[in-house]
Amino acid sequence: MKIDKISEFELIDRIKANTINSEGVIKGIGDDAAVLEATVGTNILFCSDMLIEGRHFLRDVITPRELGYKALAVNLSDIASMGGKPKYALLSTGWPKDLEIVYIQEFYEGVKGIAQQFHVSIVGGDTVNSNDIVIDVAVIGEVEYNKAIMRSGAKPGHVLAATGTLGDSATGLAEITQELKKSPPDHIQEYLRKRHMMPEPRVEAGQLLARLGASSMIDISDGLASEINHICAQSDVSAEVIEEAIPISEEARAFASLNKIDVLELALFGGEDYELLFTVPEERWQAVKEVVGGNLNLNITQIGKIIPKVNDENKVCIINKEGQSRLIKAKGYNHFRS
Ligand code: ADP
Ligand code: MG
Repeated sequence: MKIDKISEFELIDRIKANTINSEGVIKGIGDDAAVLEATVGTNILFCSDMLIEGRHFLRDVITPRELGYKALAVNLSDIASMGGKPKYALLSTGWPKDLEIVYIQEFYEGVKGIAQQFHVSIVGGDTVNSNDIVIDVAVIGEVEYNKAIMRSGAKPGHVLAATGTLGDSATGLAEITQELKKSPPDHIQEYLRKRHMMPEPRVEAGQLLARLGASSMIDISDGLASEINHICAQSDVSAEVIEEAIPISEEARAFASLNKIDVLELALFGGEDYELLFTVPEERWQAVKEVVGGNLNLNITQIGKIIPKVNDENKVCIINKEGQSRLIKAKGYNHFRS
């Protein structure tokens, strides 16, 4: 059945089941606004991210369930990078008239799956008609009063580190969208596809890193190069990255070598890994590595260090095996550049 065969109210009724997963919802879907409990002693984190068909995703490549998962995941990642706990989400959606209702149901199954996993409640949204699919998710989170981790706290001498592995998502996208001659074994293809379509927001890691004394943090949505430059600009410092230290998965390496792709370029400039990039004072690094690695089964890797500004500029240099240094500029995706 197509979406134009039922009313907006019927659609919202179908969406409403199993949407409350966190404490503090006094009224969820069904009134003019959601009513939420405010937790004493916290600051509110509030962010949104928009996905437009054809620009951020292709309807015939991503499944509706993956799209629902990812739409919420990218927002949870933003809350994670502040060291916070995501709590509530609003979903404003635009759907084409001729879309099958089952598409929207599966989309919401994806949303609800990750919402349950991270104890986030879907408390409302809006539903409109549009030519292409448009998804705008807004999330509210909480962080202990005055304890949000900003991009601006990095100091010379601090360790620069990242969670997980980088470049998987862009490698996965290349695998899905490019006509590549050589396919790696199925388990590698599946791993890379999942890393692109269903990135796991590092919510527990973000909160743990905040408690353990991270000085700055950002999630890697536009690529490592871009995010390091953001931290340096906002903290007014420079950074030195060791090329060999950048964590790249066996799977991404295998796929890249088979297809003669430069996996380091993808790690630096590819984006959408949704890992966390952070800095921490050197004396805390060992403890951070042990606690995060031990408690979360998540590798964290030092990839470089923060240094004072170079020639009065916030520069990011990467040093290769031969000891040669090159400047890396932010080359992330710019929506307003054609
Ligand atoms: P109003 O006309 O007052 O904006 P709506 O009929 O748009 O109310 O929405 C009714 C309820 O359904 C509200 O609680 C709203 O937040 C919720 N809602 C509408 N669309 C969605 C959606 N796509 N996802 C989740 N909740 C939604
Ligand atoms: Mg409305």
